[in-house]
Amino acid sequence: MENKVVIITGGAMGLGYAAADVLASQKAKLVLVDYNADALAEAEEKLKKTYEGLEVLSVTADVSKEDQVKAYVDQTVEKFGRIDGFYNNAGIEGRQASMIDYDMDVFKKVIDINLMGVYYGLRYILPIMKEQGYGRIVNVASVGGIRGVLNQSPYVASKHAVSGMTKNAALEYGQYGILTNAIAPGAILTPMVAEAFKQVNPEDPKAAEKEYASRNPTRSLGDPQDVGKLVAYLLSADNGYVSGQTIAIDGGESNMY
Ligand code: NAD
Repeated sequence: MENKVVIITGGAMGLGYAAADVLASQKAKLVLVDYNADALAEAEEKLKKTYEGLEVLSVTADVSKEDQVKAYVDQTVEKFGRIDGFYNNAGIEGRQASMIDYDMDVFKKVIDINLMGVYYGLRYILPIMKEQGYGRIVNVASVGGIRGVLNQSPYVASKHAVSGMTKNAALEYGQYGILTNAIAPGAILTPMVAEAFKQVNPEDPKAAEKEYASRNPTRSLGDPQDVGKLVAYLLSADNGYVSGQTIAIDGGESNMY
């Protein structure tokens, strides 16, 4: 990934930060996008301390706001002149509630961020990659983009949509040298998943974590760095022919009946 320019949304923590760390170790130039300005500044500082000479542009933006998406894309092109890779990762889980009890405002927010945010990114980055005749995109779906998850209907709907949009991007833009895939992580221990365990068992989130891990074929949760390594491969020129796929990284969980 040396000298490749990669935009990472939701880059301040969790899966976005882990991928930033892997890509920085491979000497990519990074653009970190996040709406949490403090966490973003911390992430940039930590990466620069670890990887001497690393080039990083941090942009505070909410991916569900189209004008802010356009702004992070414009700033990237202004600074680096091109976009080789796009990790379309920012997303939220929402609250957990049964379908008919789901708070409508939270429902719409999940769709706005997880679906529209991913779409806006594609809308503004695909034309640049088309012009270059080269690009690699990884959208973030979920095991909840492959099957249902109790009490998470907007999340599941948005992640199935991400998987569908990935197929279309691959079909429509493959001819311009752009390969688009999605990943479907299972339970990877990030701040988002830690928060989900708090919702499942507010008294003892660690017990909820253990119980969840015990149901995985590997009896463990996933490591964000492992996801980062898969993403780095899909964003690299080493990936020459994988496109339109939703690739599970879940310890085999999505195969269970
Ligand atoms: P996280 O909450 O730990 O980190 C997400 C980051 O995205 C945060 O820095 C947050 O500030 C940022 N973000 C959220 N909404 C944003 C917005 N509208 N605009 C800009 N930035 C925004 O979450 P994570 O676990 O790292 O999840 C990252 C992605 O992976 C999400 O799309 C999530 O649905 C998906 N995912 C995660 C898991 C998992 O097990 N961790 C499993 C399946 C899918």
